[in-house]
Amino acid sequence: MIRSLLPDFDTLAVHAGRADFHALGVHAPPIDLSSTYPVPDPEQGTASYDAMAAGGTPQGSAIYARLHNPTVARAEQAVAELEGAEACVAFASGMAATTAILLAAAMHGRHVVAVRPLYGGTDHLLDSGLLPIDVTFAEPHEVAQAIRPDTGLVFIETPANPTLDLLDISAIVRDAGTVPVVVDSTFATPVLQQPLRHGATMVLHSATKFLGGHGDVVAGVVATSEVWARRLRQVRILTGGILHPLAAFLLLRGLPTLPMRVEHAQRTAGVLMERLAAHPMITGVHYPGHAGSDPTGLIGRQMAGPGTLIAFEVRGGVDAANALMRALTLITPAVSLGSTDTLIQHPAGLTHRLLDPAVREAEGITDGLLRLSVGLESAEALWRDLAAGLDAAEDVAEHTEGTLAMSSR
Ligand SMILES: *Cc1c(COP(=O)(O)O)cnc(C)c1O
Repeated sequence: MIRSLLPDFDTLAVHAGRADFHALGVHAPPIDLSSTYPVPDPEQGTASYDAMAAGGTPQGSAIYARLHNPTVARAEQAVAELEGAEACVAFASGMAATTAILLAAAMHGRHVVAVRPLYGGTDHLLDSGLLPIDVTFAEPHEVAQAIRPDTGLVFIETPANPTLDLLDISAIVRDAGTVPVVVDSTFATPVLQQPLRHGATMVLHSATKFLGGHGDVVAGVVATSEVWARRLRQVRILTGGILHPLAAFLLLRGLPTLPMRVEHAQRTAGVLMERLAAHPMITGVHYPGHAGSDPTGLIGRQMAGPGTLIAFEVRGGVDAANALMRALTLITPAVSLGSTDTLIQHPAGLTHRLLDPAVREAEGITDGLLRLSVGLESAEALWRDLAAGLDAAEDVAEHTEGTLAMSSR
């Protein structure tokens, strides 16, 4: 298994956003908590304000913390380097970042083409009517025909949440023509996938997940061209979704270990996937590394590896899935992912709850589907916990099946 499709991503992850440390005489990122900044020269202040209002960076004084913050700018610089982007804009959450992308794109065309499945919050936002956009949900092969003269954006997610379906980014970019494509690459991280290298215009991460990586920060980032970064900064100034500097510090703290965390958890995920697939209580496994899950060979071309998330279906539906989660003692039943510890959640009951049940069904988000975010514990400890959970699920499934058999007699 390869760690990254890029040469020496490990070194990049350790040093990104830190090039000025020697000159500054520091060894850890300085945190600037100022909410306002002195403007000693009024004319220069006006010039700096104008520069930022146009989406640029400050010329001298940063004026006010909703417009710019140096600690946030450092985290943005680091993520831009990891994604091979000109620029990055950081937001208070992944959803704040998504909202800013949709608002910025709507200035150029109000129609959005989105490919499901998507993160539950994204799907709900697109469908909610809250934003000044008109959304067409298309299958991957329908993107070209869904494009209209007023299409301002194509929105995709790969690997997708929670089914781990992969999309061919270059193929979608080709079908989108001149329309910008945004890729939610949260599940892949820049270690495994760099969408801009495949022609995407923007790459979005919920940095709450792997980039922060320790379950203690909520953040969203968009890596893109300077042209789009300016548009996003303009939206961020007006709507106020900038990341907090303490959160930016925690995000920076997570990045140097990102490649090692992803690689370690990915190795463990491979072991657990094999054992889950062979277990009689499991009726289906979704994992990009599972036999038949990557028919067009995107792993090795678009992704360096299959990642650290596994979705699986438990025999016995929601009752068995719940019994499994209740029996766990090491793995935490919780939403979110990409943390140091292993998390499990029930998409139909939590993250994808707000979706129309028919859409859930069509996307393969069944009532017995569980999503496991593999952390850094040992494979053996995790398997012991899962095996105990599967025993508990079996008791419930057998009881239910027994009851059904009796009632049909
Ligand atoms: C969590 C998540 C989001 C939303 O990010 P927040 O930081 O929770 O706002 C978007 N996309 C994906 C794939 C996610 O996992």
